[in-house]
Amino acid sequence: MASTYEKLLSTVKEAAHTANLAENDYISLLSPEREMHISIPVKMDNGKIKVFKGYRVQHSTLRGPAKGGIRFHQDVNIDEVRSLAAWMTFKCAVADIPYGGGKGGICVTPSHLSETELEKLTRGYTRRIVSFIGPKTDIPAPDVGTNARVMAWIADTYSTYAGEFSPAVVTGKPLPLGGSKGRVEATGRGVLFATREILKKLNKSLKDQSIAIQGLGNVGGTAADLFYKDGAKIIAVSDASGGIYSEKGLDIPQILKHKKTGKKLDSFEGDFKRITNQELLELKTDILIPSALENQITEKNAANIRASIIIEAANGPVTTEADRILEKNNIICVPDVLANSGGVIVSYFEWVQNLQGLYWTEEEVNNRLENKMIEAFRLVWDVKETYNVSMRKAAYIKALKELVETQKALNII
Ligand code: NAD
Repeated sequence: MASTYEKLLSTVKEAAHTANLAENDYISLLSPEREMHISIPVKMDNGKIKVFKGYRVQHSTLRGPAKGGIRFHQDVNIDEVRSLAAWMTFKCAVADIPYGGGKGGICVTPSHLSETELEKLTRGYTRRIVSFIGPKTDIPAPDVGTNARVMAWIADTYSTYAGEFSPAVVTGKPLPLGGSKGRVEATGRGVLFATREILKKLNKSLKDQSIAIQGLGNVGGTAADLFYKDGAKIIAVSDASGGIYSEKGLDIPQILKHKKTGKKLDSFEGDFKRITNQELLELKTDILIPSALENQITEKNAANIRASIIIEAANGPVTTEADRILEKNNIICVPDVLANSGGVIVSYFEWVQNLQGLYWTEEEVNNRLENKMIEAFRLVWDVKETYNVSMRKAAYIKALKELVETQKALNII
């Protein structure tokens, strides 16, 4: 069976073929520039040394420093990190921000570690990659299982080695360390902007839509909050412990209050039906927003999807095979490289603020984000109309054209 990265490559090649690009112009984008496999020994609280496996992949630095999050999750592996790094290359090109693509991860269940163990692991990981990251080379950010606190440990460890305060080495930092207002909510907010744009194209109003959201972390939780406040009816949500469903709509503020205490959804009580994550994906709903992990909608369940629109808040939630089935069933998919780009766009704003030492209000950050996302959506939509292709293919064509232009300017020999 093809790996996630191989499937991604087939999407890239198909887009290049449709856009009539010569292989010479994009072949270098098919192989990551640099991959690091690292081992991180950590003395655990019980005195035993445990060695964790970690990775950092710099897929492309053609358009700027590698940019992409760090994932702490038990299923992290090189194929996943490589794919996530490549998605970042295309996402940054779609959003037209001056970055390449990178990603990192450690194979660990963060909830099984104490705070001290997690800090030692993060600092150990940073020491292993310290010569390869930097504000002008490779800039990590949060992803699944990591947050502002983890970014603070990375920034501090890197600054110690660099011999100077270097907040711009990571984004998604706490505000006192140079984080940007609006960064925590940026990906979820961008998902809302992308959804508004597709609904405008379809002459539909958000208030009339029913919504199901898989995953209630940084991205899914913020999206649930913002969609609810915007008047949408959220009929189902889930986390790793399972999902809940109510046809008349869920009480999102109460659910998020429960989640904020660190508890899972399976201990939340109320007037709703419990469902599995699989059942959530197959619900009859207007909009489905996968916000957890990749490979959730596959050739096995794609034919059962009953949503009219899928907004990919997660990276890679729909496989290539599933994409074909969804397209045949006229289900519109707003692809990850566009829909969840709010996070990296505000990461870029954070980096710009760090480099210039001048900080913006939250309103300014949100307005700039909205303008960037509307523009990216418009350009992708134009490509979609020109070539009569899906939004995913259109996004890849747009990104490839940007990347190929840069490549040509470099005149690689
Ligand atoms: P997170 O760790 O904050 O939350 C992940 C959520 O998914 C949690 O609610 C968890 O319980 C749930 N989950 C885990 N396994 C699950 C499963 N098998 N089924 C259902 N739910 C499951 O992570 P996040 O930062 O919200 O990231 C979620 C997705 O969004 C990832 O694909 C990530 O790469 C992508 N993304 C994140 C950002 C960002 O700024 N954080 C930006 C762009 C894309």
